[in-house]
Amino acid sequence: MLRETVTDCAACRLSGGYDSLALVLCQDLPGRLRRSPLARSLMCGTIAFQMNENVAAGNWPVVGHEWAVELLHNSLVAGRRPHAVLFTGPPQIGKRTLALALAAAMNCAAEGTRPCGQCRSCRLIARGAHSDVRVVQAETGESSREGVLKIDQIRELQRAAGLAPLESPNKVFVLREIERANLPAANALLKILEEPPPQVVLLLTSARPHALLPTVISRCQILALRPLPFTQVASALVERWGASPEDADLLSHLSEGRIGWAVERLKDSAARDERARRLIDAQQLPQMGRLQRLGYAETLTRAPASIHPTLVLWASWWRDVLLIQQGCQKHVSNVDRLSELEQQAQAFDPIQLRRFLVRLQEAPAQLNQNANARLLLEALMLHMPAPIARGPLGPSFGTEPAIVRPV
Ligand SMILES: [Zn+2]
Repeated sequence: MLRETVTDCAACRLSGGYDSLALVLCQDLPGRLRRSPLARSLMCGTIAFQMNENVAAGNWPVVGHEWAVELLHNSLVAGRRPHAVLFTGPPQIGKRTLALALAAAMNCAAEGTRPCGQCRSCRLIARGAHSDVRVVQAETGESSREGVLKIDQIRELQRAAGLAPLESPNKVFVLREIERANLPAANALLKILEEPPPQVVLLLTSARPHALLPTVISRCQILALRPLPFTQVASALVERWGASPEDADLLSHLSEGRIGWAVERLKDSAARDERARRLIDAQQLPQMGRLQRLGYAETLTRAPASIHPTLVLWASWWRDVLLIQQGCQKHVSNVDRLSELEQQAQAFDPIQLRRFLVRLQEAPAQLNQNANARLLLEALMLHMPAPIARGPLGPSFGTEPAIVRPV
């Protein structure tokens, strides 16, 4: 679909139809907006939000997503309280925050603007301690596999939903990452979505709405959240979370418009060290022999929690290399590594890079679908782009050690 709707923009052609890349790169968003509602919904979130930047967000404790805040606020003011809303959008973009803000607005005890942020209800919701506002989510262990939202959790929700609210007019359940619900749980959820008790509001979030049952989607009001402009993320990091301008600039670019990711990373110095290590690995691995790369895959497999973030980081790295090759330097994410990116851009063939990038971008989803992590990593290692010539990367550049054969 994307290939059909974006044909004029060199950056979009480069993306090959991959949302995350196209979203960042598209150079002709106003044209996309005019041309196709489908393209608008898929591609042009960034510009759309820039255009709506002036819409007042009121007192809602949410960064960005002004159009969604305005829509929900106006619904409540008009007395149209939703019974089920599905918030979609990339991970850590603010879906849960907006859902909890809506819960606060519905249960706020203030007379004037709601949510007030000051009343007992608003403060309890902000602390995650409100008896009538519950967050339900799958439990994730140390494994790289995602947890599953089980039917027992939905049954408990059904039981709790049947009870009257303790202290507020509405009983709100925020179901995070609802795509993790297994089939029995999803079917049980359908029942309560069909006939929710009058005081119950169900707020679902999902980064992969295409994985949901159509019957679940059709019973919800859908709000598709899009990445925020970099400038909005950066200024929020400085003003609300006290980040330095340098940190805010870097994190806003790395976040791809996901404010939750940027805030989490701002507080996590260990993650920064990990990023530095993995970026060095990304540059050194193509220079290593196959056996060394396969050894790296084995080592990485032993740290399953690191696999997904490493794949995402490497995808951003090689995408940036590709961007520099295409003269789109202003769109790179790893803005603190420009000189290294430029070195790499001179050393690799763009076609090979693009093929590898596609594999990298598909890998996280394959992991989520229970692909064997070690096999997947080994395949990636074997398909790494090879440097095309001796250059500035050092004396070992481009060499391939002889394969050691058993005697
Ligand atoms: Zn309040």
